[in-house]
Amino acid sequence: MIGITTTVPLEIPLAAGARVIDLNNLFITHEDPRTLTEEAEIAGFPRNTCSWIKGIYSIIKRLGITEVIAVTEGDCSNTKALIEVLATEKIHSIPFAYPFSRSKKELASQLRLFSQAFGVSTAQTKRIKERLDKIRAKVAEIDRLTWKENRVSGLENHLFLVNTSDMKGDVNAFEEEIDAFLEKVVHRDPFCEELRLAFAGVPPIFTDLYPVVESLGGRIVFNETQRQFAMPDLHPSLVEQYLAYTYPYGIFARLEDIRRELARREVDGVIHYVQSFCFRQIEDIVLKKELTVPILTLEGDQPGPLDARTRIRLESFMEMLKARKAR
Ligand code: SF4
Repeated sequence: MIGITTTVPLEIPLAAGARVIDLNNLFITHEDPRTLTEEAEIAGFPRNTCSWIKGIYSIIKRLGITEVIAVTEGDCSNTKALIEVLATEKIHSIPFAYPFSRSKKELASQLRLFSQAFGVSTAQTKRIKERLDKIRAKVAEIDRLTWKENRVSGLENHLFLVNTSDMKGDVNAFEEEIDAFLEKVVHRDPFCEELRLAFAGVPPIFTDLYPVVESLGGRIVFNETQRQFAMPDLHPSLVEQYLAYTYPYGIFARLEDIRRELARREVDGVIHYVQSFCFRQIEDIVLKKELTVPILTLEGDQPGPLDARTRIRLESFMEMLKARKAR
């Protein structure tokens, strides 16, 4: 079992027969994720460190994971320090870097090194890519049913997209789950909410954001980062696929995708989620300068439901959007 801290070229470890587990998903779906962040603080992680990092550390320790894929470029400097801590605890890491240049040549070279680390050939990886492409196409259909046919809730969309990072650790079982969902959802009556919202930024640490939005008369029809994890626009090669993936290449790579999807999905407003103590909070400045759609920035720290202040800000934002739409 190999842990991942962010989306990596999954096709390569799977071709080597590894079972890949997204540690973020294990942390946030844990029955008591707050105890995990507390355990990391007891182990010495500063209080003002991102909770995702602390949760990931504790999950690794609790499950006795001995190998982790370390994304050394294109993810997060906190992850780099986490990997250093893990090295002192005899937890082995396999590096992978998304080149900031977004150069095809450099990415191809990184993918080669990553394949060598797992001892897999291009042909083996290609076979896995073809298998995963079938699942990615089905998840893309869930996404289309969300914004185009309005048959999927924001939370369902979020969960299916975000789980593609590791295919829930079991490709076949995940595909069966997707098939059963698609079968069920086509018979549903469409949602008819007043507001169509987008969610931009890292996945939320709040556990009830999506149902709260729906209880206030809105629905999230675009989950930006989660959709990127799912890589719905299929590409012929691994290099092209991971070049098209915007998340590791900075805010300007992401903006192009965000603009296109906001227009296509007829979004009324954007919730930009930022995590406390995350460098990506600064990108909020660019997003607000560059997008013309109203944006509400919500900050989360610990896992759990929305706090009263955040909920009031969300309610006010949605009231403002409704009034704007009625004009
Ligand atoms: S939320 Fe930000 S700081 Fe936390 S792991 Fe993700 S990128 Fe790193």
